[in-house]
Amino acid sequence: MCLADKELTQNPSHFEESDEVVAHRDLAWEDYRDLIKGMRFFDPHIHMVSRTTDDYEAMRDAGIVALIEPAFWVGQPRTGLSTFKDYYSSLVGWERFRSSQFGIKHYCTIGLNSREANNEPLAEQVMEILPLYLYKEGVVGVGEIGFDDQTPAEEKYYRLQLELAKKAKLPVQLHTPHRDKKRGTERSMAIALEHGLDPSWVIVDHNNEETVKSVLDQGFWAAFTIYPFTKMSNERMVKLVEKYGPDQIMINSAADWGISDPLAIPKTAALMKMRGIADETIRLVTYQNAIDAFAKSGQIDVSDFENGLTVDQNQKFHGNTILRGGQQPRVGKDYLLIQ
Ligand SMILES: [Zn+2]
Repeated sequence: MCLADKELTQNPSHFEESDEVVAHRDLAWEDYRDLIKGMRFFDPHIHMVSRTTDDYEAMRDAGIVALIEPAFWVGQPRTGLSTFKDYYSSLVGWERFRSSQFGIKHYCTIGLNSREANNEPLAEQVMEILPLYLYKEGVVGVGEIGFDDQTPAEEKYYRLQLELAKKAKLPVQLHTPHRDKKRGTERSMAIALEHGLDPSWVIVDHNNEETVKSVLDQGFWAAFTIYPFTKMSNERMVKLVEKYGPDQIMINSAADWGISDPLAIPKTAALMKMRGIADETIRLVTYQNAIDAFAKSGQIDVSDFENGLTVDQNQKFHGNTILRGGQQPRVGKDYLLIQ
């Protein structure tokens, strides 16, 4: 294991520990973007607060018209309740505005992440403020919640948040653990069922070949994160879709502050197209299924984004703009989809 690998393992974002060598095929994007001409994509898991304006531009240019940003941890433990508040406020405030300035509709899920559930005194306080955010406009689920190390504290706050989701009539976005994944995934689903959740309201994330069959058989949504350099590469995702078909399956980038790829969905779509997978199958796993799953929240109106958002960079959020001195605001739909 090289030093870089070691650091990733000790401080993972969404990276899996891989015990197998997977040849990563990094698509030369320019060579493949023609294949997805006119397609539109919905990324149901991406942490935009960690991404740049270049990422927003590239995503929009590649046909990503809408996204969901789950509440997650920030790479180091938070030290107090106010940083949770500010983070949740940014997901429904500034980040949503920033996304709109690049023509991408922004939704979010709100929750206490599994890692920080282990700081019980703080977790207790966070539980008290979650309802203040769960009912806000554009919040399409409780997430991402579930297990990390599979500790008793994680289980306690997972169960409490399942109850919050039921009460708020919101879907659940489930983070499955990177270590001991199979057991953690089964346990997460069993607990959700025990709390009386309808599996069609639960999106089980970060699946792999070992977990997918059981997730689908039990009627849950199976989400797959396309990670560069780790287990779930674009190639393997294509094979999974060939094997299981598009029903209940969606893909996401889970791009965050770690090494990740905000264009994972359009790149995988291009690869599927190359492999002769039907356009309708591609549309379901890269767009429609995610919409169907999270629209149960009552918060998604596809007419808001299906024909593109009108961008007006003259707009401001609490007096603040994404523009810097002398920059010309973009207005209109002129950079919608790849032409
Ligand atoms: Zn995430």
